[in-house]
Amino acid sequence: MTMLTSPRLTSIPVYEPGLTMAEVMAKYGLSSVIKLASNESPYPVLPQVAEVVRAGVDGLTRYPDAYGRELRGLLADQHNVDLEQVVLGNGSGELILLAGQALLDPGTSVVYADPSFAIYPHVATAAGARAHAIPLADDGGHDLWAMAAAVDADTRLVIICNPNNPTGVYRSAAEIEEFLDNLPEDLPVLVDEAYNDFVALPDRGRILSMARERPSLLVTRTFSKAFGLPGLRVGYGVGSREWVQALNKVRPPFNTNSLGQAAALAALKRRSAIERQVAELIAERTRLEDTLTRLSVAFTPSQANFVLIDAGSSGEDAANVHENLLREGVIVRNGAALGVPGRLRVTLGTRDENDAFIDAFGRIAGQGSQATGAEGLKPS
Ligand SMILES: *Cc1c(COP(=O)(O)O)cnc(C)c1O
Repeated sequence: MTMLTSPRLTSIPVYEPGLTMAEVMAKYGLSSVIKLASNESPYPVLPQVAEVVRAGVDGLTRYPDAYGRELRGLLADQHNVDLEQVVLGNGSGELILLAGQALLDPGTSVVYADPSFAIYPHVATAAGARAHAIPLADDGGHDLWAMAAAVDADTRLVIICNPNNPTGVYRSAAEIEEFLDNLPEDLPVLVDEAYNDFVALPDRGRILSMARERPSLLVTRTFSKAFGLPGLRVGYGVGSREWVQALNKVRPPFNTNSLGQAAALAALKRRSAIERQVAELIAERTRLEDTLTRLSVAFTPSQANFVLIDAGSSGEDAANVHENLLREGVIVRNGAALGVPGRLRVTLGTRDENDAFIDAFGRIAGQGSQATGAEGLKPS
């Protein structure tokens, strides 16, 4: 006997996470590995954040603040908006799914880019809505003109991932503004800025400022990437009261937990320490990209904490390089799983970790694949 379920479920893909460090160690008999696969922070939890989490254990017998007032208050101050313009999510991924629940119905549609963040297709299917997945432009960034053209009378949500995962390509605030000006004024737009901290351009943050004035714009951010707290699941959205109210209606009341709220608050208060880490990672990004250029390895210039690297002319070459990196204890993400076959998505780690990747990649690509044309790559 089978169980009765919604036919919508058949079209929802099952998320396949990358291998964990323990799985890779067990599979290849390694005593240590480095993981550059999930765009996590390579740094340890800040001591003050760890202390707050430890102290929070005593409060676990009570429910968390359902409104996350203290954390939202500080976020509102830092972004210069009212408390009612900030909403917390169990990771920003939850807010994106909630947006679909709040805004979509069967017969409506959502527009987003492809390849982009793996959660977006779920937004449509979970609501029984249609998805218009618009191919990226040749530079790996959103094709904003094609996306605007895909918007029709049934469209109820547009999602922009900026910088885009998995390509790392950034669209400027001016480009996004022009795009928004081309849309119906009342059409909800969600800009997913999970990687905003890593943008090294003068207009960083301007899209969130635009959310102060445009009632149909919501910007989501997360504590999972630059702030290094993916295990505690805290993300947030900044936008109009209308947007926030819509999300609050479908949001489970205790969607962020007390330790997550406390840790995010403590991390925000240590923003300068996080900014130093981010500056280090941006410098590492430049160093990695310069090295790849010197070695004639093609890559997509990134404004995020990862770089998408060419690993061969075919998906098979990339799969081999990926597998051989695993054997050497270097975990990166195979692009095939992200809609970019032939590429590897490499998260920026510490200087030593990045050197280990370059060293292993050089040896592996130098041996087998002619595709990179990089004979005997050496880290600089
Ligand atoms: C990692 C990521 C997120 C954030 O996920 P959380 O749910 O906040 O952990 C959101 N969008 C993109 C594009 C991401 O890569």
